[in-house]
Amino acid sequence: MARQFFVGGNFKLNPATLSAKDSLIDSLNKADLDPSAEVVIAPPALYLLPVLSSVRKDIKVAAQNCYFKESGAFTGEISPKQLVDAGIPYVILGHSERRTLFHETSALVATKTRAAIDAGLKVILCIGETLEQREAGKTAEVCEEQLKAVVDVTKDADWSKIVIAYEPVWAIGTGKVATSAQAQQAHADVRAYLAKVVSPAVANSVQILYGGSVTAANCKELATQQDVDGFLVGGASLKPEFADIINARK
Ligand code: PEP
Repeated sequence: MARQFFVGGNFKLNPATLSAKDSLIDSLNKADLDPSAEVVIAPPALYLLPVLSSVRKDIKVAAQNCYFKESGAFTGEISPKQLVDAGIPYVILGHSERRTLFHETSALVATKTRAAIDAGLKVILCIGETLEQREAGKTAEVCEEQLKAVVDVTKDADWSKIVIAYEPVWAIGTGKVATSAQAQQAHADVRAYLAKVVSPAVANSVQILYGGSVTAANCKELATQQDVDGFLVGGASLKPEFADIINARK
């Protein structure tokens, strides 16, 4: 079964002003984009609703994070139910910046993933190893550990609601992109693991994105890899070259 090409733009804590956000959305609205690619952009929480109402309808909107509770005394959090109610279909969970800077454990990411799916969201689930772990030959092991936490609580969940983003930490925002062989190997290992612990059907159908210093210059080669189903893009999603990345297979 062919998997749809998928490109996510993670704006992180950017841009810094409403007017800069407007010009970013404006240029995306005018871009010539491959209609066969699924495109999702994740602006900061403050901009979710204005982006939802101003972005073209063939681009979907994602939150960059959410909590696992529906409501209550959790200052600063957003719930999956609130996102669904507001018309936001996707959430990014487990980004390495959340894991590292905000100390999110794999268990917390898993709890959030389950809560998000149960509320009706689709989840872009980020996994990936540090440079030290890669150099110790532990890439597959680390990805499996991060995935296992999610698999343990989602065995009976609908895996069509999960997109995996393999994002080696050493490649995020560093300008050091994985080679297409490194990306392909990691993606194939993730698929093999899911075939074993979830099902061959899920392993075959789940979209696995590569993330980490993707640019217009390197996306085309990465996109030729059979297990690379698209990209999660940080820095370049704020630039006009985001359109070229979306069009990597055009
Ligand atoms: C990201 O933050 O998900 C990411 C991949 O960032 P960048 O493209 O800037 O490396």
